[in-house]
Amino acid sequence: MTDQNRPESTGAPARPFGGLTIDLGADGSSPFGGLSIVGDDAAATPLAGGPVTAVAGGAPTETKVLIIGSGPAGLTAAIYAARANLGPVVIAGSAPGGQLMLTSEVENYPGFPEGIEGPDLMRRFREQAERFGTRFFDLDVDRVDLSGRPFRVWARGMEFVGQTVILATGASALWLNIESEQRLRGRGVSACATCDGFFFRDREIAVVGGGDSAMEEANYLTRYASKVHLLHRRDGFRASKIMIDRLYGNPKIEVHTNTEVAEVLGDQKVEGLRLRDARDGTEQSMPIEGLFIAIGHRPNTEVFRDWLETDAKGYLKPHKHTASQIDGVFIAGDVADHRYRQAITAAGDGCRAAIDAERWLESEGIAEHATQTAW
Ligand code: NAP
Repeated sequence: MTDQNRPESTGAPARPFGGLTIDLGADGSSPFGGLSIVGDDAAATPLAGGPVTAVAGGAPTETKVLIIGSGPAGLTAAIYAARANLGPVVIAGSAPGGQLMLTSEVENYPGFPEGIEGPDLMRRFREQAERFGTRFFDLDVDRVDLSGRPFRVWARGMEFVGQTVILATGASALWLNIESEQRLRGRGVSACATCDGFFFRDREIAVVGGGDSAMEEANYLTRYASKVHLLHRRDGFRASKIMIDRLYGNPKIEVHTNTEVAEVLGDQKVEGLRLRDARDGTEQSMPIEGLFIAIGHRPNTEVFRDWLETDAKGYLKPHKHTASQIDGVFIAGDVADHRYRQAITAAGDGCRAAIDAERWLESEGIAEHATQTAW
């Protein structure tokens, strides 16, 4: 990248999007409906596995606010930071957009009374962030150095330098990882009862898992489903006693222990399950129309673990509001939240983190005290 691409170098960028070209080709290769972000340097090197063409080994890309992650938390932080003239840079990941990219219809995000497809919602978030000049790099972060300011981040040969960093890498739902489950995701297979339960009114469905999440989701789903089968691979549960009692006390739930899902049946949508008894390997089929996987989440914190405190499950632990224990490093969204895990709560966190980052920059004399009205 050249100096003129840096947000600090000019008042208004000479070219829209800080020298990046937005390619709206409709070849379907991009998760944003053909939209890809391409550096305009002649020496650009194509990278495998993502839509970005990046320059390896050039001058670092600098910003006041470096955001890692491009789900609702990261993109909301970008919208707020961009409107505060902080020239944010988002390292969006090679599969940008977060968990909503894997969701079909979203009906609980305020402002969309007819509902909206998850990928469409994230495309709008991104367009809104771009509108105010956010620069995007669809790269995965390999390494960070949070030992001192400015903070340094490396992603596939590029170096990024931020006066502040907002970590918004989210969490990933764990899946059974069988071929039929992956093929039918969004077509009856889901990892979010709050998001998708409504679509299974008066249907017979199943939930997989033996922890508190599975108990909670199974109970929640009985509001809609005619019957919920709880499938657990062992006969002992990991869940708390009160949740297990609730499970067995619910007349709409049938519990099947020592039961594994061998295959999700159906071509275009879920039509049933092929189940295997974990003790003797015998198999049987179960006709159901929806399958909820509730076997836990994994926070995407691997590259930060040497720098920041995590809880027993690996989630980051904010110290005060969205601030981490490192001055200038902020945390937003599911990467620190295994309780709510909603797009709206993550977006709220992104807003809080951007405001906290901006106030911190002001207190350090790095940003002018002129952006209060931008919020
Ligand atoms: P969890 O406690 O780790 O439980 C995951 C469950 O999924 C386990 O029963 C596990 O089986 C099963 N599982 C894992 N991989 C599997 C696979 N490949 N195939 C089949 N089953 C598999 O996760 P969680 O239930 O999401 O809970 C996470 C944390 O959040 C916990 O601390 C929990 O207490 C908390 N939480 C609390 C509440 C609440 O208090 N209301 C609600 C939700 C979550 P095994 O037991 O055989 O390993």
